[in-house]
Amino acid sequence: MKENDKIKVGVVGVGHLGKFHLEQYQLINTVDLVGFFDINSETSKKMSDMLNVKSYNSLDDLLDVCGAVSVCTPTSTHFEVSKKVMCKKCHLFIEKPITNNVQHAKELILLSKKNSVLVQIGHIERFNPAFYALNKENINPNFIESHRLSPFNMRGTDVDVILDLMIHDIDILITIVKSNIKLIQASGVSVLSDTIDMANTRIEFDNGCVANMTASRISQKKLRKFRIFEEKSYTNIDFLNPSVEKYILSNDRPKNDFSYIVINENEEKYILYDKPKINLHNALKVELQCFAESIQMSKEPVVCGNDGLRALEIAIQIRNQINTKSF
Ligand code: NAD
Repeated sequence: MKENDKIKVGVVGVGHLGKFHLEQYQLINTVDLVGFFDINSETSKKMSDMLNVKSYNSLDDLLDVCGAVSVCTPTSTHFEVSKKVMCKKCHLFIEKPITNNVQHAKELILLSKKNSVLVQIGHIERFNPAFYALNKENINPNFIESHRLSPFNMRGTDVDVILDLMIHDIDILITIVKSNIKLIQASGVSVLSDTIDMANTRIEFDNGCVANMTASRISQKKLRKFRIFEEKSYTNIDFLNPSVEKYILSNDRPKNDFSYIVINENEEKYILYDKPKINLHNALKVELQCFAESIQMSKEPVVCGNDGLRALEIAIQIRNQINTKSF
């Protein structure tokens, strides 16, 4: 494909998230949104009327006219749908998590190589404006704490809260901590669904870093906090209302416009406070733009199939640790 050619894209599954994919593809000028397929005819009609996008009667019909598609069907269907997409030689964006089992994820990665198609996984926090504002190069965490809480919704309960919510933080964790995992401990409970609705895990890395992560989908309020503790600093990331706050322990009184607190003037100890400016953008739009760019430039997506597989492997290990009867 020529670099300037528009990619013909489609969406499979236009429920909660698929609708956002349709809307964002309509705004991206490097792609041409040709239509979508959803097994629910009522949803199809509603979405087609609302967004003025063509609804196809079968997946095959959609794939015949597309060069790439987003798979936004429930996680338990990702494997079967994605296999069909790849066999039709379409590039593939799979919403997170890649699948609900490791063997299937590995098969999809192999299939993508066999059919020479690119696969990107929808770990959207990598495109969050707050994550963009974080200086990731010089980060060396000793301790990480994350909370991802949501009110209950039946949507997404085909998988447990680890695959549904915690997987976002797992992906960010292994992007930041460059070390192998030594130990995973976890506990969790199922409260409103048949699978785990609330989970907590403690992950130890070979380099000594420890992460304590909590995810719940039975919370009253939404929260997406990710806190990073380094030897002389603490960084507080909010993925929901994108912001980054950094507190740095210093022996020098700051010369620039940092605000600071004097801990002990005699010992020259200060806490510097920094809140980098966030350049707000729509994370899904940037994520899909990057997907299109990968196809046009024939380069590996920012979040490739193996990234999705790594996050899934850890999520499954956490689940295996959980005794759902106690917390
Ligand atoms: P949803 O139930 O709202 O929508 C799923 C849609 O897929 C429905 O319209 C359904 O009719 C359709 N569908 C089901 N099986 C299909 C098939 N075989 N072929 C075609 N259409 C089919 O679910 P959702 O909340 O939009 O979640 C979809 C996916 O997106 C899940 O994998 C979920 O984990 C992921 N998700 C990601 C994020 C994120 O932050 N990146 C947020 C929410 C959901």
